[in-house]
Amino acid sequence: MARKPLIAGNWKMNLNHLEAIALVQKIAFALPEKYFDKVDVTVIPPFVDLRSVQTLVEGDRLLITYGAQDVSTHDEGAYTGEISGSMLAKLGCSFVVVGHSERRQYHNEDDATVLAKTKQALKYGITPIVCIGEGLGVRETKTHVEYNLEQLRGSLKGLTAEEIAKIVIAYEPVWAIGTGKVATPADAQEVCGAIRKELAELANPEVAAGVRVLYGGSVNAKNVGELVGQTDIDGALVGGASLKGDEFATLSAIA
Ligand code: PEP
Repeated sequence: MARKPLIAGNWKMNLNHLEAIALVQKIAFALPEKYFDKVDVTVIPPFVDLRSVQTLVEGDRLLITYGAQDVSTHDEGAYTGEISGSMLAKLGCSFVVVGHSERRQYHNEDDATVLAKTKQALKYGITPIVCIGEGLGVRETKTHVEYNLEQLRGSLKGLTAEEIAKIVIAYEPVWAIGTGKVATPADAQEVCGAIRKELAELANPEVAAGVRVLYGGSVNAKNVGELVGQTDIDGALVGGASLKGDEFATLSAIA
């Protein structure tokens, strides 16, 4: 099954709402509409930028979509500081990143929490980008494939094939995030291929063939081509390079 590549720019805790507008305009200007026939491009700004990005995207009928970096496990109520799936849906978010390694590491999010957030996203019609990935210690013991599959199983536990079909998976080796040390295309393919095989077990082969599996970790305009050229890599989750409008547009066009 042909899978349309997805390039998602995770801005992390960078750019205020004015800077956000400027960056989206720059990307839109650098990426003519014709590219959107072959690649989906989304930006993932901080929560406080979403309303401004929505106004720009809707007002100018841009083909770029946008999403959030996290979602609450709760629907509503006394959860100070949290943002619900229904709030994100109301703001027009197409995607939400769940289980990013920075949330797993700094906020102690485990697979059960990632699963709960994935369910919240699906409940409100938002596509979860479910992140998994091993640290350097795991990679050095060469147990990284099984480690990632364990995270995958835990993060999708009990979901139906229909639900799994609506998810995007991002394989992000922690040692490659923000370090400039990108995985080799073969190393990235090894894990992304194993993820797809596991999705066939968790759902079925048809669903597995349709789910987009992204690679993330020091992706830039120079290395994206070879990465997305791998059989089971359907795009990229991009951190640092997504903050540079020209480079993000260029790598989106290459994908
Ligand atoms: C990320 O934060 O998801 C990421 C992949 O970051 P970077 O591209 O900067 O490594």
